[in-house]
Amino acid sequence: MRLETRYNPRMRHSLIAILAGAAAFAAQPAAYDLLLKNGRVVDGTGSAWFTADVAIRGDAIAAIAPRIEGPAARTIDVAGRIVAPGFIDIHTHARRGLTEVPTAANYVRQGVTTLIEGPDGSSALPLGPFLAELDRLQKSVNIGSFLGQGSIRTSVVGSGNRPATPDEIQKMVALVEQGMKDGALGLSTGLFYVPGTFTPTAEVVELARAAGRVGGIHESHQRDDAAKLLDSVRETIAIGEQGKLPTQISHAKVVGVANWGRSVDMLRLVDEARARGVDVTIDQYPYTASSTSVAAALIPAWVLEGGRAATLARLKESGPREKAKAGIVAMIRDERGGGDPKNVQFASCSFDPSLAGKTLADLTKARGKAPTIRNAAEVTMWIVEQGGCQGIFHAMSERDLVRILRHPATMIASDGSVPIFGQANPHPRSYGTFARVLGLYVREKKVLTLEDAIRKMSAFPAARLGFADRGVLRPGLKADVAVFDAATVRDTATFDKPHQYAEGFSHVIVNGQVVFENGEMTGARPGRVLYGPGRR
Ligand SMILES: [Zn+2]
Repeated sequence: MRLETRYNPRMRHSLIAILAGAAAFAAQPAAYDLLLKNGRVVDGTGSAWFTADVAIRGDAIAAIAPRIEGPAARTIDVAGRIVAPGFIDIHTHARRGLTEVPTAANYVRQGVTTLIEGPDGSSALPLGPFLAELDRLQKSVNIGSFLGQGSIRTSVVGSGNRPATPDEIQKMVALVEQGMKDGALGLSTGLFYVPGTFTPTAEVVELARAAGRVGGIHESHQRDDAAKLLDSVRETIAIGEQGKLPTQISHAKVVGVANWGRSVDMLRLVDEARARGVDVTIDQYPYTASSTSVAAALIPAWVLEGGRAATLARLKESGPREKAKAGIVAMIRDERGGGDPKNVQFASCSFDPSLAGKTLADLTKARGKAPTIRNAAEVTMWIVEQGGCQGIFHAMSERDLVRILRHPATMIASDGSVPIFGQANPHPRSYGTFARVLGLYVREKKVLTLEDAIRKMSAFPAARLGFADRGVLRPGLKADVAVFDAATVRDTATFDKPHQYAEGFSHVIVNGQVVFENGEMTGARPGRVLYGPGRR
């Protein structure tokens, strides 16, 4: 090795020569900071794996070759293990917990190195100060953010059910332009939620166009993933087509037994749009249960209009209460309720933490009533009156899940958050999404090849977000790397015991620094804010 040959033993007799030699030694740094030897490299592009060493210098990949001799400050033998680009999670609610848990261990331990925030129409507003705060936060992962259409509309129009005036639209477009300058990756919509649900498509298009002008994309929690799923897919496509920007269906799903099978038509619409040149893509988490607030999932939007006080007032009047109950019955029977109150599980309830993990059927019985859908609807209103719960809704089919997962335009995203370990009963997707795809859908069910699954977690979302310097293992790009054993990788978090880390990962590297190894977070905080096209 070069360093050893520089030291000449014949110089021993001369103190000056020794000092000179030491100086030469100190002046000659190792060629690499970190060398991963003998791994199976899956580079993220979808190419078949190949045996190679990966050398890292500073925050970047310096070399990938069959045999790299170094010298390196540190060498790790990863023989037999997969060396992949760190995973990019394009749809998370990470801002809920990243400040409390800046290591984001639940994500890092499944290979995720970048979290994208601001989904479902909900983001920090204004975005600039929020990103500055994230920049100051010492964190283990990279983070970027979308701009939320719902947050913008609330600040300009409020949460009422009416179209915006031309003047208000102008104000909202200005906020989008400012958000893009601040570093947003694009515009997210949550047309399922209040106030997104009160927004006409044409109004969304105006805002989307402003994001697209600067190179941003649109992603949508669609208006309806149940009976009106296909209309919603058409709307998401139309926003991209008319707004002239890439558009993405967030956490694609088919909700409600009556609608199962409609993934066929959903994907046909996507294929037809792509065939005529609309850049529409999909992201998905690998579970047949969704998670959101009980109110958003089971209470009709008209009941929620105008905020909490207005909702409570409506539920006090017998006429509106009966009408609300009929709507809730339909939503339990045909939509997120999965046809049975036992399919609704509580993730957390602000007014009674002991309810976490229990079901709506359990609570209905505990309140002295038979767990029928009608009685459960009454209890649902009671829950909202008490302050509400976050819920988990078992209402999707495995066949739809697999069909969507296989589609070439589908990438993986958790829709999860950064939980405080052991607290509440969150959806297991926050701990398991990426490991579950690799363990269950690649190794066990063989739905995807390993290379394709990794593409859906790295190069594909990176390209979608315009991250030219991440998502692929290639010299010169940032060294975000996940090392795991393809034979043992698996998720262990379940709906009953969600606080369990994924298994099978041995090393996770962010911007060249090891943040996880030998089963422990190292404490390194090399994460950065990743800005959108308006600020790159
Ligand atoms: Zn969502």
